[in-house]
Amino acid sequence: MQFTGPGRPLELAARSPASPGPGQVLLRVAACGVCRTDLHVVDGELPWPGHPVVPGHEIVGRVVETGPGVEQFRSGERIGVPWLGWTCGRCDYCATGRENLCDHAKFTGYDFDGGYADYALADSRYCFALPVEYSDAEAAPLLCAGLIGYRALIMAGEARRLGIYGFGAAAHIVAQVARFQGRQLFAFARPGDIEARKFALALGASWAGDSTAMPPEPLDAAILFAPVGALVPAALRAVAKGGTVVCAGIHMSDIPSFP
Ligand SMILES: [Zn+2]
Ligand SMILES: [Zn+2]
Repeated sequence: MQFTGPGRPLELAARSPASPGPGQVLLRVAACGVCRTDLHVVDGELPWPGHPVVPGHEIVGRVVETGPGVEQFRSGERIGVPWLGWTCGRCDYCATGRENLCDHAKFTGYDFDGGYADYALADSRYCFALPVEYSDAEAAPLLCAGLIGYRALIMAGEARRLGIYGFGAAAHIVAQVARFQGRQLFAFARPGDIEARKFALALGASWAGDSTAMPPEPLDAAILFAPVGALVPAALRAVAKGGTVVCAGIHMSDIPSFP
Protein backbone atom coordinates (compact mmCIF):
# COMPACT_ATOMS: atom_id res chain seq x y z
CA MET A 1 0.00 0.00 0.00
CA GLN A 2 1.04 3.56 -0.45
CA PHE A 3 1.40 5.01 2.99
CA THR A 4 5.17 4.72 2.78
CA GLY A 5 7.32 6.14 0.04
CA PRO A 6 9.47 9.17 -0.57
CA GLY A 7 8.19 12.28 1.13
CA ARG A 8 5.10 10.74 2.63
CA PRO A 9 6.14 10.68 6.32
CA LEU A 10 7.25 14.33 6.13
CA GLU A 11 3.97 15.31 4.59
CA LEU A 12 2.10 13.58 7.42
CA ALA A 13 4.30 15.15 10.07
CA ALA A 14 3.63 18.61 8.70
CA ARG A 15 -0.13 18.21 8.80
CA SER A 16 -1.78 19.71 11.86
CA PRO A 17 -4.35 17.53 13.62
CA ALA A 18 -7.95 17.90 12.50
CA SER A 19 -10.61 19.06 14.91
CA PRO A 20 -12.89 16.33 16.24
CA GLY A 21 -16.34 16.13 14.65
CA PRO A 22 -19.56 15.24 16.48
CA GLY A 23 -18.97 12.26 18.79
CA GLN A 24 -15.25 12.22 18.08
CA VAL A 25 -12.22 12.67 20.28
CA LEU A 26 -8.81 13.94 19.22
CA LEU A 27 -6.01 12.05 20.95
CA ARG A 28 -2.32 12.72 21.42
CA VAL A 29 -0.95 9.21 20.85
CA ALA A 30 1.16 7.86 23.71
CA ALA A 31 1.64 4.27 22.49
CA CYS A 32 0.36 2.07 19.69
CA GLY A 33 0.87 -1.68 19.46
CA VAL A 34 1.64 -3.69 16.34
CA CYS A 35 -0.98 -6.31 15.42
CA ARG A 36 -0.72 -9.07 12.83
CA THR A 37 -3.61 -7.36 11.02
CA ASP A 38 -1.45 -4.24 10.57
CA LEU A 39 0.97 -6.45 8.66
CA HIS A 40 -1.89 -7.91 6.57
CA VAL A 41 -2.94 -4.33 5.75
CA VAL A 42 0.60 -3.24 4.88
CA ASP A 43 1.17 -6.35 2.77
CA GLY A 44 -2.05 -5.73 0.83
CA GLU A 45 -3.66 -8.97 2.00
CA LEU A 46 -6.91 -7.22 2.89
CA PRO A 47 -9.02 -5.51 0.21
CA TRP A 48 -7.70 -2.06 -0.70
CA PRO A 49 -9.80 0.42 1.33
CA GLY A 50 -9.65 2.98 -1.46
CA HIS A 51 -7.30 5.49 0.16
CA PRO A 52 -3.85 5.65 1.80
CA VAL A 53 -3.80 4.32 5.35
CA VAL A 54 -2.04 5.13 8.61
CA PRO A 55 -2.10 1.70 10.32
CA GLY A 56 -2.23 1.01 14.04
CA HIS A 57 -5.29 0.00 16.06
CA GLU A 58 -3.99 -0.57 19.57
CA ILE A 59 -3.89 3.11 20.45
CA VAL A 60 -3.35 4.52 23.91
CA GLY A 61 -3.63 8.27 23.97
CA ARG A 62 -4.69 11.27 25.95
CA VAL A 63 -7.71 13.29 24.94
CA VAL A 64 -6.71 16.68 23.55
CA GLU A 65 -10.12 17.83 22.43
CA THR A 66 -13.64 16.41 22.41
CA GLY A 67 -16.17 17.00 19.64
CA PRO A 68 -19.79 18.03 20.16
CA GLY A 69 -21.84 15.49 22.10
CA VAL A 70 -18.92 13.66 23.76
CA GLU A 71 -19.73 13.27 27.44
CA GLN A 72 -18.00 10.09 28.62
CA PHE A 73 -14.42 11.37 28.19
CA ARG A 74 -12.77 14.65 29.08
CA SER A 75 -9.69 16.49 28.02
CA GLY A 76 -6.50 14.97 29.47
CA GLU A 77 -8.07 11.56 30.13
CA ARG A 78 -6.15 8.50 28.95
CA ILE A 79 -8.23 6.21 26.72
CA GLY A 80 -7.77 3.29 24.33
CA VAL A 81 -8.84 2.90 20.70
CA PRO A 82 -9.39 -0.61 19.27
CA TRP A 83 -9.76 -2.09 15.75
CA LEU A 84 -13.56 -1.71 15.63
CA GLY A 85 -13.94 1.98 14.92
CA TRP A 86 -17.55 2.41 13.85
CA THR A 87 -20.74 0.38 13.27
CA CYS A 88 -24.08 1.25 11.66
CA GLY A 89 -26.21 0.69 14.76
CA ARG A 90 -29.12 -0.48 12.60
CA CYS A 91 -28.38 -3.89 11.08
CA ASP A 92 -29.44 -7.17 12.72
CA TYR A 93 -25.95 -7.69 14.13
CA CYS A 94 -25.84 -4.27 15.72
CA ALA A 95 -29.38 -4.71 17.05
CA THR A 96 -28.52 -8.01 18.73
CA GLY A 97 -25.35 -7.05 20.58
CA ARG A 98 -23.01 -8.41 17.90
CA GLU A 99 -21.84 -5.15 16.42
CA ASN A 100 -18.41 -6.66 15.78
CA LEU A 101 -20.14 -8.49 12.89
CA CYS A 102 -21.79 -5.35 11.47
CA ASP A 103 -21.85 -5.49 7.66
CA HIS A 104 -21.01 -1.82 7.47
CA ALA A 105 -18.35 -1.71 10.19
CA LYS A 106 -15.34 0.57 9.80
CA PHE A 107 -11.97 -0.17 11.29
CA THR A 108 -9.20 1.83 12.89
CA GLY A 109 -5.96 1.85 10.92
CA TYR A 110 -7.78 0.65 7.80
CA ASP A 111 -10.94 2.64 7.05
CA PHE A 112 -9.81 5.34 9.48
CA ASP A 113 -6.26 6.55 10.04
CA GLY A 114 -4.73 4.70 12.97
CA GLY A 115 -2.23 5.26 15.72
CA TYR A 116 1.19 5.32 14.07
CA ALA A 117 1.01 9.07 14.25
CA ASP A 118 1.31 11.90 16.74
CA TYR A 119 -2.44 12.42 16.84
CA ALA A 120 -5.51 10.32 16.05
CA LEU A 121 -9.22 10.93 15.72
CA ALA A 122 -11.63 8.31 17.04
CA ASP A 123 -15.36 7.84 17.55
CA SER A 124 -15.71 8.11 21.31
CA ARG A 125 -18.42 5.39 21.41
CA TYR A 126 -15.79 2.77 20.49
CA CYS A 127 -13.07 3.98 22.83
CA PHE A 128 -12.26 2.40 26.18
CA ALA A 129 -11.47 3.88 29.54
CA LEU A 130 -8.18 2.35 30.76
CA PRO A 131 -7.28 1.27 34.31
CA VAL A 132 -4.49 3.34 35.83
CA GLU A 133 -2.51 0.23 36.83
CA TYR A 134 -1.21 -0.30 33.32
CA SER A 135 1.48 1.79 31.67
CA ASP A 136 0.80 3.11 28.15
CA ALA A 137 2.87 0.35 26.58
CA GLU A 138 1.28 -2.35 28.75
CA ALA A 139 -2.25 -1.23 27.93
CA ALA A 140 -1.76 -0.95 24.14
CA PRO A 141 -1.64 -4.68 23.25
CA LEU A 142 -4.77 -5.32 25.32
CA LEU A 143 -6.77 -3.26 22.80
CA CYS A 144 -6.58 -5.92 20.11
CA ALA A 145 -4.43 -8.88 21.06
CA GLY A 146 -5.88 -8.92 24.57
CA LEU A 147 -9.43 -8.27 23.42
CA ILE A 148 -9.42 -10.95 20.70
CA GLY A 149 -7.52 -13.34 22.91
CA TYR A 150 -9.95 -13.03 25.78
CA ARG A 151 -12.94 -13.38 23.45
CA ALA A 152 -11.43 -16.57 22.00
CA LEU A 153 -10.77 -17.88 25.49
CA ILE A 154 -14.45 -17.38 26.40
CA MET A 155 -15.41 -19.36 23.26
CA ALA A 156 -13.11 -22.18 24.36
CA GLY A 157 -15.52 -22.69 27.26
CA GLU A 158 -14.38 -24.52 30.34
CA ALA A 159 -11.57 -26.39 28.54
CA ARG A 160 -9.04 -27.61 31.08
CA ARG A 161 -6.45 -28.71 28.51
CA LEU A 162 -6.10 -25.74 26.20
CA GLY A 163 -4.04 -25.69 23.02
CA ILE A 164 -2.87 -22.45 21.45
CA TYR A 165 -1.68 -22.40 17.84
CA GLY A 166 0.54 -19.45 17.01
CA PHE A 167 2.32 -18.04 19.99
CA GLY A 168 2.33 -14.32 19.27
CA ALA A 169 0.70 -11.24 20.75
CA ALA A 170 -2.78 -12.58 21.57
CA ALA A 171 -1.46 -15.95 22.72
CA HIS A 172 1.03 -14.53 25.17
CA ILE A 173 -1.73 -12.56 26.90
CA VAL A 174 -4.27 -15.40 26.84
CA ALA A 175 -1.64 -17.79 28.19
CA GLN A 176 -1.26 -15.69 31.32
CA VAL A 177 -5.03 -15.51 31.86
CA ALA A 178 -5.45 -19.25 31.22
CA ARG A 179 -2.68 -20.14 33.64
CA PHE A 180 -4.20 -17.80 36.24
CA GLN A 181 -7.48 -19.71 35.77
CA GLY A 182 -5.66 -22.97 36.43
CA ARG A 183 -5.90 -24.38 32.92
CA GLN A 184 -3.21 -26.58 31.42
CA LEU A 185 -1.58 -24.98 28.42
CA PHE A 186 -0.18 -26.57 25.25
CA ALA A 187 1.60 -24.21 22.85
CA PHE A 188 2.04 -24.83 19.13
CA ALA A 189 4.58 -22.71 17.28
CA ARG A 190 5.74 -22.51 13.68
CA PRO A 191 7.96 -25.55 13.00
CA GLY A 192 11.50 -24.71 14.10
CA ASP A 193 10.54 -21.57 16.04
CA ILE A 194 12.52 -22.42 19.16
CA GLU A 195 12.20 -18.90 20.59
CA ALA A 196 8.38 -19.01 20.53
CA ARG A 197 8.42 -22.40 22.24
CA LYS A 198 10.79 -21.16 24.94
CA PHE A 199 8.61 -18.09 25.44
CA ALA A 200 5.49 -20.26 25.84
CA LEU A 201 7.21 -22.48 28.42
CA ALA A 202 8.39 -19.37 30.30
CA LEU A 203 4.74 -18.23 30.50
CA GLY A 204 3.65 -21.51 32.05
CA ALA A 205 2.84 -23.83 29.14
CA SER A 206 3.28 -27.44 30.21
CA TRP A 207 4.22 -28.44 26.66
CA ALA A 208 5.43 -26.54 23.60
CA GLY A 209 5.94 -28.06 20.17
CA ASP A 210 5.66 -27.60 16.43
CA SER A 211 2.21 -26.78 15.05
CA THR A 212 2.39 -29.97 12.97
CA ALA A 213 2.97 -32.14 16.06
CA MET A 214 0.34 -33.87 18.18
CA PRO A 215 0.14 -32.83 21.84
CA PRO A 216 1.11 -35.43 24.47
CA GLU A 217 -2.56 -35.74 25.41
CA PRO A 218 -5.85 -34.79 23.68
CA LEU A 219 -7.00 -31.20 24.15
CA ASP A 220 -10.40 -30.02 25.37
CA ALA A 221 -10.12 -26.96 23.16
CA ALA A 222 -7.72 -25.32 20.77
CA ILE A 223 -7.50 -21.66 19.81
CA LEU A 224 -5.96 -20.79 16.44
CA PHE A 225 -4.26 -17.41 16.36
CA ALA A 226 -1.91 -18.31 13.50
CA PRO A 227 -3.42 -17.17 10.16
CA VAL A 228 -2.79 -20.59 8.65
CA GLY A 229 -5.80 -22.54 7.37
CA ALA A 230 -3.86 -25.81 7.31
CA LEU A 231 -3.85 -25.70 11.10
CA VAL A 232 -7.62 -26.18 11.27
CA PRO A 233 -7.54 -29.92 10.43
CA ALA A 234 -4.41 -30.25 12.61
CA ALA A 235 -6.24 -28.72 15.58
CA LEU A 236 -9.32 -30.86 14.95
CA ARG A 237 -7.07 -33.93 15.19
CA ALA A 238 -5.53 -32.68 18.42
CA VAL A 239 -8.80 -32.15 20.34
CA ALA A 240 -10.66 -34.90 22.16
CA LYS A 241 -14.20 -35.93 21.20
CA GLY A 242 -16.56 -33.06 21.90
CA GLY A 243 -13.69 -30.62 21.87
CA THR A 244 -13.79 -27.09 20.49
CA VAL A 245 -11.59 -25.43 17.88
CA VAL A 246 -11.77 -21.63 17.90
CA CYS A 247 -10.49 -19.78 14.82
CA ALA A 248 -9.51 -16.39 16.18
CA GLY A 249 -7.69 -14.71 13.29
CA ILE A 250 -9.25 -11.90 11.30
CA HIS A 251 -7.61 -13.19 8.15
CA MET A 252 -6.63 -16.78 7.40
CA SER A 253 -5.19 -18.65 4.43
CA ASP A 254 -7.44 -21.28 2.82
CA ILE A 255 -8.41 -24.30 4.90
CA PRO A 256 -7.44 -27.45 3.00
CA SER A 257 -10.07 -30.12 2.45
CA PHE A 258 -10.03 -32.96 4.93
CA PRO A 259 -12.07 -36.11 5.59
ZN1 LIG B 1 -5.48 -6.27 15.69
ZN1 LIG C 1 -24.50 -2.73 11.86
